[in-house]
Amino acid sequence: MATEGPARRRIQVAEHPRLLKLKEIFNSKFGSIPKFYVRAPGRVNIIEQDMLIAVEPVKTHTLQLANTNPLYPDFSTSANNIQIDRTNPLWHNYFLCGFKGIQEHFGLSNLTGMNCLVDGNIPPSSGLSSSSALVCCAGLVTLTVLGMNLSKVELAEICAKSERYIGTEGGGMDQSISFLAEEGTAKLIEFSPLRATDVKLPSGAVFVIANSCVEMNKAATSHFNVRVMECRLAAKLLAKYKSLQWDKVLRLEEVQTELGISLEEMLLVTEDALHSEPYSPEEICKCLGISLEELRTQILSPNTQDVLIFKLYQRAKHVYSEAARVLQFKKICEEAPDNIVQLLGELMNQSHKSCRDMYECSCPELDQLVDICRKFGAPGSRLTGAGWGGCTVSIVPADKLPSFLANVQEAYYQRSNRSLVPEKQSLFVTKPGGGALVFLEA
Ligand code: ADP
Ligand code: MG
Repeated sequence: MATEGPARRRIQVAEHPRLLKLKEIFNSKFGSIPKFYVRAPGRVNIIEQDMLIAVEPVKTHTLQLANTNPLYPDFSTSANNIQIDRTNPLWHNYFLCGFKGIQEHFGLSNLTGMNCLVDGNIPPSSGLSSSSALVCCAGLVTLTVLGMNLSKVELAEICAKSERYIGTEGGGMDQSISFLAEEGTAKLIEFSPLRATDVKLPSGAVFVIANSCVEMNKAATSHFNVRVMECRLAAKLLAKYKSLQWDKVLRLEEVQTELGISLEEMLLVTEDALHSEPYSPEEICKCLGISLEELRTQILSPNTQDVLIFKLYQRAKHVYSEAARVLQFKKICEEAPDNIVQLLGELMNQSHKSCRDMYECSCPELDQLVDICRKFGAPGSRLTGAGWGGCTVSIVPADKLPSFLANVQEAYYQRSNRSLVPEKQSLFVTKPGGGALVFLEA
């Protein structure tokens, strides 16, 4: 339901080893007991892999953050003076994004402090959206401390907006699924208005995540934002070509909605309106009738100011064709033909090809990994998340799973000595799990 807030569950902490451990570390760090716990999942929604935060509100205005992983150092700040450093995206900045988002939503300036201990086990910078899980978890933590209520949809929208404080111009998919996920069903996420529809996955197959072990932090590099800007510029040029009011347009989807045409028709418009040679900033300015100064200050993000070529045709083709594949995927799931696994696999393969050649967000390791996955029995395999590293997702017939896992392990991980990442985090079966929720000790 659109108005429903995240669930609250009473639990016996002693019966949950991870919560118990968190409670003990919390006690040794802060000398007290957490009041409640919040969990939020990553994307390609993974059972048992999530961001978990133990929380205790305090009387002072100090926000103290600690992490069970020593790679992420303790941090403390005044809750009334939140500074997010987008030039150096250290972990606590993601927490601050969620915190600030809720603070701003309610127009509050004088927030009480809290002690928080974070425990995450989503492989970071691997396309499973550990960043959004942390932002969403922090948002729900803050909401709970304030004693306020918001629907899952409102929370998703606030957290999508506030993760942009870190400097990445993300769309909102990751935050949406983190709140709206439900155990046992995949979700089709659509925007304006934000909504999630159930998609029933085939029962005879499983989805396997494999980590390429190449990490790519989306806020510390500009790759991600360059693509967002290319899409934004392509949307503006397409809108101008179709005599729409282009200056307000930000996303490719808006052009399609405005024109009221199908994705297939939108692909034809793209072929007519854009050329496949890359665009220079000068050419874009000429098309839109604006100055270079206006391009930089009014359209481009701070970290894409000096980009010299924009591949507008390729990016728009990828986005519209990918959106069409998502709808085809859902349709195939609904119709459930006998060769469903094969058909879904083919769509995933087409996706990977388009990511690699048109969106150029793959990397040699990801390409090698999808090849290996296909070779050992996956009818389909593709990169997942933003790309440039991180994970692949493959569809694997259930009866082939044991041999698939053993062979991929051997071919990609053992042979090239990629055993740095704990095995459990590099190759595993994923099932749709539940969304963010609050635990109170019973
Ligand atoms: P992803 O694809 O996982 O979202 P990003 O590059 O967007 O990758 O974000 C990764 C960042 O999220 C990490 O560099 C770190 O700052 C933060 N992060 C991820 N996991 C944790 C964790 N367990 N504790 C604290 N911060 C984390
Ligand atoms: Mg991220």
